[in-house]
Amino acid sequence: MGVAKNTLESLQWFSRFLDETPGDEEEGGSPRRIPNVCWSRVNPTPPPSPKLELWSNEMADELGLERPDGQILGGGKIVGGMDPYAQRYGGHQFGNWAGQLGDGRAITLGEAQGKNGILELQLKGAGLTPYSRFADGKAVLRSSIREFLCSEAMHHLGIPTTRALSLVSTGESVIRDIMYDGNPKPEPGAVVCRVAPSFLRFGSFQIHTNSGDIPTLKNLVEHTVKHHFANHSADGDEGLISWLKHVAEQTANMISHWMRVGFVHGVMNTDNMSIHGLTIDYGPYGWIEDFNPSWTPNTTDATTRRYQYGQQPQIGAWNVARLLEAIGPLMDEKERLYEVLDTYYDTFEQNNKSMWAAKLGLSKYLESDESLISELIALLQEVETDMTIFFHKLSFVESPNIESLEEAFYDPSTIPVEGWNKWLEKWWDRTNATPNQEEMRKANPKYVLRNWMAQLAIDAAEKGDYSIAEELYELLKNPYDEQSKYEERWYQKRPEWARNRVGCSMLSCSS
Ligand code: AMP
Ligand code: MG
Repeated sequence: MGVAKNTLESLQWFSRFLDETPGDEEEGGSPRRIPNVCWSRVNPTPPPSPKLELWSNEMADELGLERPDGQILGGGKIVGGMDPYAQRYGGHQFGNWAGQLGDGRAITLGEAQGKNGILELQLKGAGLTPYSRFADGKAVLRSSIREFLCSEAMHHLGIPTTRALSLVSTGESVIRDIMYDGNPKPEPGAVVCRVAPSFLRFGSFQIHTNSGDIPTLKNLVEHTVKHHFANHSADGDEGLISWLKHVAEQTANMISHWMRVGFVHGVMNTDNMSIHGLTIDYGPYGWIEDFNPSWTPNTTDATTRRYQYGQQPQIGAWNVARLLEAIGPLMDEKERLYEVLDTYYDTFEQNNKSMWAAKLGLSKYLESDESLISELIALLQEVETDMTIFFHKLSFVESPNIESLEEAFYDPSTIPVEGWNKWLEKWWDRTNATPNQEEMRKANPKYVLRNWMAQLAIDAAEKGDYSIAEELYELLKNPYDEQSKYEERWYQKRPEWARNRVGCSMLSCSS
């Protein structure tokens, strides 16, 4: 007996955000500053020949949706109770206040009832909005594949993230100068439909405070807490502090997971920080391959490396502090906001300790483990060493000898054997020769979406072949499992061809 399925038309749609927060009186219109609002109604631009290329059967299940063609999810048609809009927000970009940003290439179709709550469905790349500033509102296939695959992969790694429902190729070319070096060229366009409880960001709140519009700030905070933090209240200092502590905890939790798996977001601007502590806005992100904490994939950040892997926890705190400043005007005793920052640091520290305990198979973190971990971090940086393979192999070693970990090293002749064996013995003793390897295997994924893996999927998809993208989507549903049939192809250090290739070792914000 088949279960009755929804179509996009028959989903139960809501417009809570539009109903409860102030919006733009004009519909659509050219890019401009729009003070005192949270959103502008705007319709997607229909693409010339939309085709559904990738479909997340899991997200579809959550919404009870049957697989449609590409028309609606490509932005070609508004159906049912959809009421599309672009959100207005601001943000600190690379440490500087950037003023109004907003959804420049994202258009929310509406909020729809899912099995576990109401979810916002948003098209990324469906055309101009009043917040598009100088850009075209479109997205290229390359960045859309990266968003689709990575957000689904993150979910299966157990990391809070926005999700993807679909990827539609538009049949349109989009001009991009990938490396911003004066070489623009046409690329195939695409639209991803992404899904989250909401796409509210730290910058959604900041924009009102920074333009002195406290009534709208208050309105937005009340709306957010009422629908998304139902156990909290936006009433008075006590309520606000407890809500913000929750946000700080979720943010710290998300970042500790990034550190666990070697994920580098690449653009942790405050407009890219979800109020739900979800990984959001997949742009020039990357995965640490050889363990180098100062690595960032984002070429725009190549000189200052603000968003390098090892600095993500501190940047998280900096971003939370900007959110706290934004909420400050609603507080009587603003000094109490420092408690929230303490909560961020405490949560991160707790998570970081349990993360290391799990990665190393220690039943419990002890203060004396600090040196074991710092020595490990130093050793991992001595010669080029693959983070994922190292920890995965460590979850299987039978004796404290570096030989069984050789595959993690790019050049086995350079392995600092003595140093490693000393460390391995120390670790082995600490675990009484019985590291909890079952726990280790749940903390150390075998497969992550390495930059070159995504690039292979992109190269094929640009020729119309989505089989690699499909294979990676399936593979990354079970990142902690052995999946031996995929091993030869995907359980690999970065191949040499990818060392300096654009899209693999270097990524730009161009998307
Ligand atoms: P991001 O760096 O992706 O977080 O983007 C920062 C801001 O630029 C956001 O307000 C985006 O909506 C906007 N933006 C980025 N790319 C485009 C584009 N192709 N068209 C319009 N707006 C864009
Ligand atoms: Mg963004």
